[in-house]
Amino acid sequence: MFRTVLLNIVFCSFAVFAGCATQEVTAKDNNDPNIIQYVETDTGRWMVHDMDRPAPPVVTPGTESTQNRAGKAPSDAIVLFDGTDLSKWTTGRGGPAKWTVQDGYMQIARESGNIKTKQAFGSCQLHIEFATPSRVRDTSQGRGNSGVFLMAMYEIQVLDSYNNKTYPDGQCAALYGQEVPLVNACREPGQWQSYDIIFHRPIFKGKKVVKKATFTVFHNGVLVHDNVTLKGGTDWIGPHAVTDYKPHADKLPIMLQNHGNPVRYRNVWIRELKD
Ligand code: MG
Repeated sequence: MFRTVLLNIVFCSFAVFAGCATQEVTAKDNNDPNIIQYVETDTGRWMVHDMDRPAPPVVTPGTESTQNRAGKAPSDAIVLFDGTDLSKWTTGRGGPAKWTVQDGYMQIARESGNIKTKQAFGSCQLHIEFATPSRVRDTSQGRGNSGVFLMAMYEIQVLDSYNNKTYPDGQCAALYGQEVPLVNACREPGQWQSYDIIFHRPIFKGKKVVKKATFTVFHNGVLVHDNVTLKGGTDWIGPHAVTDYKPHADKLPIMLQNHGNPVRYRNVWIRELKD
């Protein structure tokens, strides 16, 4: 007992001393060349623990979703769908989006085509929630198929992959035709699921890609792509082939795929990122 108390006192004293020592370093230059005292940053060269270094903007966090209720976006996000209307979306050709909206979600309607955002985006953090039909029909790629397309061309597959065998690079959360998710984190059909996507766009110089796109993706909070570099496009051009990179604009819409299954979406928001 006495030994534990003594150890605590020693530890606390060290912690207090360490804090004081840190503040002293911020006050004046240390001439010891072995001590790293400055860091080079986007905002300039700063002394470690410098009180004048610019602090990040304050953001009010959103709220988590439950199965019964969609959460809220963080304060600095662009809300693309809050459950009320499709005013931020159009058809592929630019007409009014015709997916149905009810009870806080949108649902793919028959022969209504894909929908895409009116606003274009490049590198971003995208949050989107989806539910594949609770009434299970068909198999493999015919079950709850849709897709979230970054820049209207790089697809993260949406599929009912709960006890549904298909080719792994086309299962739920796959970077279609390219990357298999690290794990299958699917919930049962009909349940609300989420993707949190961190995407960095490809950069082109003339006709060549000089920096390929990267994806980090969480499926229902579980990491399924860990800073994966996309080798090429994700367009389906044949049974066993995908497209290569083709030069395109720096910003393009987010697109949601109509694959003929009544998949639902809710709580869609995005935050733009630096390339
Ligand atoms: Mg799809």
